[in-house]
Amino acid sequence: EQHQIDALRRRLGDAGVRYVFAQFTDIQGVAKGKTVPLSHLEDIFTAGAGFSGPSIWGTGLPRHGLRSEYYGRGDISTAQVLPWLPGHARVVCDGYVGGESFALCPRQILRRQVARLAERGWTLNAGLEPEFFLLQRNPDGSVSPADGHDRLEKPSYDYKSLTRQQAFLGALTDALQACGLDVFQIDHEDASGQYEVNYHYSDALSAADRFMLFKMAAHSIAESLGMVFSMMPKPFANMPGSGLHFHLSIADAGGRAVFTDRSDAQGLGLSQTAYHFLAGLLHHAPALAALCAPTVNSYKRLVVGESLSGTTWAPAHIGYGDNNRTTLVRVAHSRLEWRLPDASANPYLALAGVIAAGLDGVERSLSPGAPVADDLYELMLAELRVRGIAQLPQNLGEAVAALESDTSLGEALGSAFTAEFCRFKRMEWVEYSRAVHAWETERYADRF
Ligand code: GLU
Ligand code: MG
Ligand code: MG
Repeated sequence: EQHQIDALRRRLGDAGVRYVFAQFTDIQGVAKGKTVPLSHLEDIFTAGAGFSGPSIWGTGLPRHGLRSEYYGRGDISTAQVLPWLPGHARVVCDGYVGGESFALCPRQILRRQVARLAERGWTLNAGLEPEFFLLQRNPDGSVSPADGHDRLEKPSYDYKSLTRQQAFLGALTDALQACGLDVFQIDHEDASGQYEVNYHYSDALSAADRFMLFKMAAHSIAESLGMVFSMMPKPFANMPGSGLHFHLSIADAGGRAVFTDRSDAQGLGLSQTAYHFLAGLLHHAPALAALCAPTVNSYKRLVVGESLSGTTWAPAHIGYGDNNRTTLVRVAHSRLEWRLPDASANPYLALAGVIAAGLDGVERSLSPGAPVADDLYELMLAELRVRGIAQLPQNLGEAVAALESDTSLGEALGSAFTAEFCRFKRMEWVEYSRAVHAWETERYADRF
């Protein structure tokens, strides 16, 4: 250990690093931490960087006493120079309270689910697909797409819109490549000022660490260019929202693809294990919504019914299909594309939920039913009902209620965590429910 820390100090020093950001992720998926001068690198790995627990959302820690101190203890394998922040490196930390692994730390929660997979010799690989908006801050304080003057009807893959933001996209890509994220595609998405950057998949823990790195880089680089980087799920009512799809597959100890079976009678190339895992995802989907789409705004993206502004490509119903982007789980290349998440999710918690749900499907040999071959946006609500295709929770309140009543998932993630998470998210829902929104006064003020 000491030897490793010394080697790291030399390596970082040689790379010109003077400060190390000891980073953790709060319940809302926001990067937090402390800056530690390189001369004190060792502290991050021994005692850990200390924080006031009750000042961090979602820890549920008391305001005084021994259990009020939250320690972020560094995972040395994550040490990484941050190319966009001269002289800085990052170390990802795990939460400790009272000298013990903290049950409510999102990274520790994911670690426990990863360990359950490892007992079977399995590694879950996840490719997270971040969609986001580049916004400008207007003089009146409002935000609008940074290239809003070009409101094309179908801006998907548009050359002009893509290249106009090359200063940001190029700097981001260079930074991510230097961090080993292996970016392979960048495009303009379906809304003005909306982009997607794809980088290589990795094991679940590292996928969550990398996604946090992606967000940190994107926020800093956009800010330095006078723009606002936004992963708000649905910033504009009349445009599609931003998803954070998870491409999921499992490798066994010998590196073989556990989800693949070319002789699959249904022709989707999936193994029995993949169908069971998929069934677990569908079975627990309402509760997973609370973890994967955890804000009031998330449900503006996942809304049921065709909209006048066109297809949004976000899921609203619980089903799966062969390369079907209108379903919750799109199956392609023997992988499961889980389309529920948006980036207001904490990636550790969302991935932990996915693993716990999938493993429940495998342990109980659940069946996902038949795949959906239709365009789910076109099916009438009555027909969906007849075919037993349920809809996702339609607001945060419903999602939290679903997680509260899904005791098997709640227990798999840890009852103390689930209770605190639901308490926190219910407060958010109540606060929103009590607010009177502009839409209401506009519609009702002089009507009755
Ligand atoms: N923006 C869509 C969503 O919210 C996804 C579009 C796509 O399939 O790339 O999920
Ligand atoms: Mg996309
Ligand atoms: Mg996708």
